[in-house]
Formats: sequence, C-alpha cells, structure tokens
Amino acid sequence: MEGDRVTRRRFLEAGGGVTGLSLALTTSAGAALFQSRSEVRAAGQRMPDGVELPRSPSLPKRSNSVGFAIVGLGDYALNQMMPRFNQAERAHVAAIVSGNPEKLSRVGDAYGVPRSARYSYESFQDIARDDRVDVVYIVLPSGLHAEWTTRAFAAGKHVLCEKPMALSSAECKRMIAASRKANRKLMIAYRSHFEPHNLQAMELMAQGVAGQLRLLRTEQSYRMGPTSPTENWRVRRALAGGGPLEDLGIYGIQAALYLSREMPESISATTLQPSGDPRFSEIFAQVTSQWRFPSGAVAQLATSYDSSGSNSVRARGTSGALIMDPATNYSGQRMTLEGRERREFRAGDPTVQFARQLDHMADAVRDGTRIRTPGEMGLRDLRLIEATYLSAAAGRTVKLNGDATMRG
Ligand code: NAD
Repeated sequence: MEGDRVTRRRFLEAGGGVTGLSLALTTSAGAALFQSRSEVRAAGQRMPDGVELPRSPSLPKRSNSVGFAIVGLGDYALNQMMPRFNQAERAHVAAIVSGNPEKLSRVGDAYGVPRSARYSYESFQDIARDDRVDVVYIVLPSGLHAEWTTRAFAAGKHVLCEKPMALSSAECKRMIAASRKANRKLMIAYRSHFEPHNLQAMELMAQGVAGQLRLLRTEQSYRMGPTSPTENWRVRRALAGGGPLEDLGIYGIQAALYLSREMPESISATTLQPSGDPRFSEIFAQVTSQWRFPSGAVAQLATSYDSSGSNSVRARGTSGALIMDPATNYSGQRMTLEGRERREFRAGDPTVQFARQLDHMADAVRDGTRIRTPGEMGLRDLRLIEATYLSAAAGRTVKLNGDATMRG
C-alpha cells in the first residue's frame, strides 16, 4: 500500500536534513516515520511450515515452576521455543494467545493447555485474572512488541520480549516505564547470553586472550527469497523497522558490545535499498557500519537480507584473534583462537541457550534475581540502531554519549 511506504528518500525528506532527521528519530515525531503503526494489528496467521507438534503433552513441572503465556504462534514460537520448555526446569507453558482459532486448538491440545487458558488477541485482557500465568512471552512481529508488552504489564504480568525489543528508542522507554509502573520484570530474549560459546567468549576476551582488541568484525546475512510487504511482515517497515539490522544485525551489535566491553563513541554507516525489488520497497537490503571505541579499537558490522548466508564474529587483538563461525546460531557454534597456536573451544551444547533463558526469567520472577538482559539493554541497542540509520541517511559520522544517546 503506497501510503504505508517509507522509502529511504521519504525517510530523508521527512527529516528535512540532519537536524530534522535526528530530531525525527528521537522524538515522537520520529515514531511517525516508522508508521503507519496504527494500521499494524495483531492478526491470526496460518500454521508455519515444518511444525511438529508434540505427540503427548509434557509432564507436569515442579510446584514452583513459573507459568508462561506464549503470544504469537509463529515459526519461532512453535519450531523453537515451545518445544524447549520441556528442557527448562522452572518454566512451563501455561497459556497461549493467537488470532487463529484452529492453531489455538491444535497447539493447545498438543501442549496440554487447558481450553480456559487459550486466548485470542481480543480476549487477552482476561489473562489479568488468570493466576496460572506469571510471564507473558511476546513472540509477535517486532512492530507489535511495544503494544503487547504494555498490555501485558497492564494485566499485571511479567514480560519476556523477543528481540528486537521494539522499533524505536521511544517505544523502548515506554515499555520500561510500563514495567516500572506495574512493578513487573522485563527481560529481552537475547539468547546468546545463555549460550556456552558466547559466554566463554565473553570470559576469554575479558581475560585478554587475544591481547588488546583492535578490530572486531561481525556478519549476519542470508538471501531472502522473493516476497513483498503484503506477504511478509519482515519486509514491511511498520512491523520490521529498517529490516536486517533489527532482525539479524542485532546479534552483531550485541557481540560487538559484550566482547569489547565498551560502548562506541561514534558510528558511521551506509545502507543499501535497491530500487524495483519488492523485497526492499520498504526496508533496507543491507546495513553496514563502523564503530570507533574509546580505546581506539574499531568494530565493523555488516548485515544483509540479500547476500549468501553468514553468521560470524571475529575479534582481533594484538596477540591473536577469537573467531566464532557460526557465532549465534541455534546450534553448531564453533569457536577458535588463532594466534601463535590454533586452539578450538568446545564450550558445551549451544541448544541449552533456549531453556536457560526461560529458567533465567523464571528465577527473576520467583526469586527476584537480577535480569542479565533487561529492557535497558534493549533500549541501548535501539539507540545504536537509530544512530546507524541517522549516520547512513545523513552521510556523516554520528557521535555518541556513553549511554548510546546521540551527541549534539
Ligand atoms: P513468524 O512470522 O513466523 O510468526 C509471527 C507470528 O505472530 C504469526 O504466526 C502470528 O501468530 C503472529 N502475528 C500476530 N499478528 C501478526 C501480524 N499482523 N502479522 C504477522 N504475524 C502476526 O515470525 P517469527 O520468526 O516467529 O518471529 C517472531 C518474533 O520472534 C520476532 O520479533 C522475531 O524477531 C523473533 N525471533 C527471534 C529469534 C531468536 O533467535 N531469538 C528467532 C526468530 C524470530
């Protein structure tokens, strides 16, 4: 729909230059750039491909297990996360929320979710009276995260929200404010913080295994098949933001931060939006950026929906390089230290990341433990994404404060 479209050109024009653009991205006027959000509604979709529903519902959990309501029964929920509750020790599926009655029924039966704990988007507010539900897990398209997180807090529940936290820093701030007002926890589902290789990489880099960090390179890409914004929310700006950076490149942002243990002081970026390709009529095909850290180290981040598959992180220091390839997949992580000698690390089974993430949220809710990936982390990352787009649109380096807000 033409009125829905925010091309790079309109994106630039709407800001009316660097100052206007910067303002537009950081104020509520900026929210309009990423709209028409009012037209964006949660709506039932067909069953995703390749779903294998369990043959029998899982065994009951311990009495102090924390109940999760899954909002959005799409590919990631049904093919990855819901099956992983079996491996979690302190978390279980207590309720499901979907706009597709057939999916509600099939998924509910397969997972042993009582009929009274199956909600539509219209009846969601009734979850407030459902004591079986402690946490609402938002697995909806990214442009719906802010609205449904806020609704879950209004219902008095804790929230686990998929990445990216939202599509703007303004939305993230509203989500954090709603969490505080409701006195409920907010966790962003950054699963790499629970994956053994990434955890070991954080430790190794902190120990200086590669010497002093000089150059960090991240790549997350794949080539998307033919599609268009009417068919696929991932290429629709109102639901996906700029596209690959929010979806895939966010893993590079995360890794660059947790491996360097620094915040960038400046970002300079470029975007690619080929014309005449329905996949990229609303979003970017590719985003690349260069960050400079206060230590002098540099990070180069690349992400694309239009190049062959990659998922790697390379941290090169004065005495060696820590190479992760693949770095943040669901499984199959490989990590090597290249220096005077070559050393391979087998940190453990990467697939534990899903259940550990769920148990971490459960612990925070039940025992009040500190959340490793809180809303503030999601906000920080959205600020970096906004600075990246501003730099690319304005064609200049953007300077940052320590909290990733833009300077000047
Ligand atoms: P998907 O398209 O497979 O599923 C989205 C689901 O949301 C749909 O099936 C439907 O049930 C629901 N939905 C409600 N309103 C909708 C609307 N207007 N348009 C489309 N769907 C609507 O997407 P997905 O791959 O499951 O991604 C969902 C979320 O999970 C996204 O935020 C994504 O970034 C995140 N995700 C995270 C990971 C990870 O590794 N942490 C991996 C994949 C996806």
